[in-house]
Amino acid sequence: MPMLTIFISSLRIALIYAFFAGLWIVFSDMALESMVSDVALMSRLQTYKGWFFVLVTAVMLCFLVFSALLKIERINEFDSLTGLLNHHMFMEQVSRKLLNKQAKQKVVVIYQDIDRFSKVNEALGFGLANQALADYARELKAGFHSNVLLARFPPDQFAVAFISDEELSLLDEQISKLKRLFSKTMLGYKVSATSTLGVAISPQDGNEVKTLMSAAAEALIKAKQGPPGNIEFFNKALSEQEKEKQLLVNDLREALVDKKLFLVYQPQYQLLTGELTGVEVLARWQHPDKGFIAPDVFVKLAEEYGLCDQLSAFVVSSAEQELSSHGLLGEYIKRVSINISAIEFNSPPLMDTLIENIETAEQLFPYLQLEITETATLDNLEKSAALIDRLKSKGLKFSVDDFGTGYTSLAMLKDLPIDEIKIDRSFINELEKGGKSKAIVDAIIAMTKGFGIDSVAEGIESRAQMELLKAIGCSEGQGYYLAMPMTIEKLKAHVVTGSEKAV
Ligand code: C2E
Ligand code: CA
Ligand code: CA
Repeated sequence: MPMLTIFISSLRIALIYAFFAGLWIVFSDMALESMVSDVALMSRLQTYKGWFFVLVTAVMLCFLVFSALLKIERINEFDSLTGLLNHHMFMEQVSRKLLNKQAKQKVVVIYQDIDRFSKVNEALGFGLANQALADYARELKAGFHSNVLLARFPPDQFAVAFISDEELSLLDEQISKLKRLFSKTMLGYKVSATSTLGVAISPQDGNEVKTLMSAAAEALIKAKQGPPGNIEFFNKALSEQEKEKQLLVNDLREALVDKKLFLVYQPQYQLLTGELTGVEVLARWQHPDKGFIAPDVFVKLAEEYGLCDQLSAFVVSSAEQELSSHGLLGEYIKRVSINISAIEFNSPPLMDTLIENIETAEQLFPYLQLEITETATLDNLEKSAALIDRLKSKGLKFSVDDFGTGYTSLAMLKDLPIDEIKIDRSFINELEKGGKSKAIVDAIIAMTKGFGIDSVAEGIESRAQMELLKAIGCSEGQGYYLAMPMTIEKLKAHVVTGSEKAV
């Protein structure tokens, strides 16, 4: 607040005070004079009146000073733009964590610095850049458990601290989350900014708060000497692991540009008739040196480093090109499901890009179904329903993947306008044991029938599982027992000549 405004506010309060105090003096004197005529009594009452005035003004003063000091104290604790902790309070709370942790636990401190923040400021303007930082802070608060410390060191650094188990089992996940939330926020403003991280861990990098925080700062300085998006641990061995990951991301980025990934298709069947109902498209990456990299690994990397839009663009364009050039769309294959990552589904600009890509794939478009994992839609059911409605009005179909793993499945079925659910393979895996998994599958199928939604059982690996699913009344299935994911050439042989048919 400018000095002049502060002065004017103070002056206004003083004038109001002077006005009422003056009124009190004049009217209380007049009242006394009209009621008391004895001079000695009058003088005593004047004294009491004076003391009463002092008491009331002292209480008022105490209240005003108290609330002003409280405000100053709060301003000193929190960053005014984001409401996150400031440097001083972060330090104090990290030292509390160091004291409170159990003997074998560790305390992790991560410093995050936005790369080329001046460019973000230039692109967005100061006001919008500040709004982006405040949004990011909101994402952090929503994304991390309340016992994770979150701070901002203006202008463009953030810090995170938490207590971890001895094996640092959550460290990787927390770092991924930090990067994911950052790239999601920035993509929301249509800027692709990266951030660099420096990580220090107590006790190995320091037992005291000052040494630990200096270690994180030192790691960050070292990280800044590398490429944008770099991570450096104060501890060398951990840094090496991270370097490997960075190299892999760079390779993935190149592979996406050079279209070095490829696709496989896994057929889905009507369980009762054996009729082919559709295929699920799965991306594959054969790394030139490291061999086959599992999709679970590279999809997670793509999410962390803001590459999922490129991955989906690749999947859509390659699937269209392959399926149409082999003449499979329509006559042989009536439904093509592609996987959409949770990050994409929950980011309006990424969804806009995806829709643009899908709309240009005119031949594929009429057969396309989007698979989103159940947990992605749970972020905000109302928003998800609106988005799905919008896409359905364009003619797209929707499937909820890994159904049953999200704990609010029932509400989802009621509120989301979906076409299909895919029963998670963990339930199919345990089907033969009977028990709870079978009861869950029974219930899912009964429910989806009631709602008029198709259900596909995924991960069918044996005839016994397939027979059980048929008996329960599950309409469709997919799994290694029925058909493996296969290249386009094998798929063509499979659907056209009927070879390799398992049902
Ligand atoms: P998902 O969507 O649940 O895909 C099904 C996974 O189950 C595939 O693994 C498939 O090969 C595997 N599978 C199929 N039948 C069986 C079976 O009978 N038994 C077992 N144990 N597994 C079976 P994959 O290809 O390794 O993909 C793993 C995950 O990676 C996928 O899970 C999906 O979430 C993600 N993914 C794959 N391709 C893409 C993609 O193009 N884009 C995105 N965003 N994610 C993808
Ligand atoms: Ca899937
Ligand atoms: Ca699945």
